[in-house]
Amino acid sequence: MNVVEVREVSFGYEQNQVLAEISMAVEKGDFLALLGPNGAGKTTLVKLILGLLKPLRGQVKLFGSPVEKFKNWSWIGYIPQKAVAFDKRFPVTVEEVVLAGRFGRLGLGRRPGKEDRQAVEEALSAMEILGYKKSLLNNLSGGQQQRVFIARALVSQPRLLILDEPVAGLDSRTLEGFYRLLARLNREKKMTILVVSHDTGAVSRWVNKVACVNHTLLYYGRPEELFRAEGLSLLYGAPVRLVAHG
Ligand code: ADP
Repeated sequence: MNVVEVREVSFGYEQNQVLAEISMAVEKGDFLALLGPNGAGKTTLVKLILGLLKPLRGQVKLFGSPVEKFKNWSWIGYIPQKAVAFDKRFPVTVEEVVLAGRFGRLGLGRRPGKEDRQAVEEALSAMEILGYKKSLLNNLSGGQQQRVFIARALVSQPRLLILDEPVAGLDSRTLEGFYRLLARLNREKKMTILVVSHDTGAVSRWVNKVACVNHTLLYYGRPEELFRAEGLSLLYGAPVRLVAHG
């Protein structure tokens, strides 16, 4: 069964068509990158997948059921592009926010145990904010808060984790650690992951599948093939110089 199935989906905001005839799937165990330049319609596609927008035509299914009928939202972790607004008067520490990501797994009445705290520490250090563990969330910058929310989603271990351009503002070293952690969650916890990026190079080394969107679906398949220059030119509409990584 596909975790996400997008079938011939078209969408537009008022008169402007943004997505045309998109068909793609995220299979169980996939680590998929949704790639495309800014304004290509990536966020729009994610919102369609999550049922936050309704397609003009076509259908979206989550775990086999039409998105409008889907109920198991706790299976899905979603990190939007911008950090979620937080009540500024609420004096909560970074550790508490991330630990809250474990509550769904703890069950009522169970106190966080060693494993929970370990998962929190691991996620915080992957996001390079372990030093802020005891800090108040409100004292952190917007970018740091975004990392806290990513850490919270990581520890909640959803079946499907969707991250929309999560890496804005992360330096390349942190980025590396971040993708490494995602790859590990994918491998060891069998977490299915969909990550949105306009940065083709960094993410493609980690994923098993890419979907390239620029209003239409330009490529869907393994990343290796895309790395032929033609693939990238196709995506960005101009010849691209390939830069070696690693
Ligand atoms: P991406 O995530 O690839 O950068 P988006 O899905 O955010 O692209 O946007 C695709 C296009 O849709 C852009 O031209 C954008 O300006 C437009 N768009 C996005 N959100 C809205 C909206 N709420 N109303 C009208 N147009 C929008």
